[in-house]
Amino acid sequence: ETAARISAWRGPGRTSDGHPVAILANVADGVSARSGAQAPVEGVGLFRTELAFLDRASEPALDEQVALYREVIDAFPGQKVVIRTLDAGSDKPLKFVNHAEEPNPAMGVRGNRIVQTYPAIRNNQLDALAEAARGDGRAVPWVMAPMIATVDEAREFAAQVRDRGLIPGVMVEVPSAAILAEAILGEVDFVSIGTNDLTQYTMAADRMSPDLAALTDPWQPAVLALIQRVGDAGVKLGKPVGVCGEAAADPLLACVLIGLGVTSLSAAPAAAAAVGLRVGGVSVEQCRAAAVAAVATVDPASARAAARSVLDV
Ligand code: PEP
Ligand code: MG
Repeated sequence: ETAARISAWRGPGRTSDGHPVAILANVADGVSARSGAQAPVEGVGLFRTELAFLDRASEPALDEQVALYREVIDAFPGQKVVIRTLDAGSDKPLKFVNHAEEPNPAMGVRGNRIVQTYPAIRNNQLDALAEAARGDGRAVPWVMAPMIATVDEAREFAAQVRDRGLIPGVMVEVPSAAILAEAILGEVDFVSIGTNDLTQYTMAADRMSPDLAALTDPWQPAVLALIQRVGDAGVKLGKPVGVCGEAAADPLLACVLIGLGVTSLSAAPAAAAAVGLRVGGVSVEQCRAAAVAAVATVDPASARAAARSVLDV
């Protein structure tokens, strides 16, 4: 696509035949939310709350949390804002959560698993989110938990979120959650696929390792097959299935994801226009055909080639 056509793209996201696919922004704080709101996006698909607190020695006070969450909510008035509870640990350790030395932190007490050790930290955050959402004209935020591996975890999280009047969802970034997607979606109102970690855990390849980049490729057909399983569950239950990993920034893969049943795409705001333009040039039927072709391959290069060939790009 020409740079001019990309920069002229304004949204909203939809395929050439009018099937809506929300193009959303990944943000980290008020500043990145306000700058993200300048991009052609329809809201926030992933607010990584832990990134605001990486330098903290102690849990941020409730008031400070409320102010931060409100800044992000108010940068997108009336629009969808998906806020993720603290994903502490592994590549993003928080000093006030991750004390224990763990031999394998990517598989350790990270993400929503901190409820085992510090339930109050997560529940205080949910209190702050509920408080931040209060007030005239504020849309109810969608709140999702990272690193959910079981249906029980999804159920427990959903109850806490619903009790506070917020909309509950979970991330699908552990293969077990993709395998049990239908049961998990039965407990929550939406899911969002974190392709960075889903790829890492499916391929048993560290996402931080440059030596393993060929394995940590979201075009790996095994990863696509898991996404298909989640997409099918979303279609069956009539619930939204987002993607908020880097895969959503790849315009070709975005079309395949739509074909797999994904209903929204969230990535760095700088990626929004290129993704939106490409999606607008293909029909949902073409996306479905590209998805079928890509999933039927056995390696990433063949998956890309199959999608390109079907979509004629
Ligand atoms: C992911 O795992 O794809 C994701 C969106 O979360 P993070 O990159 O913050 O781990
Ligand atoms: Mg993740």
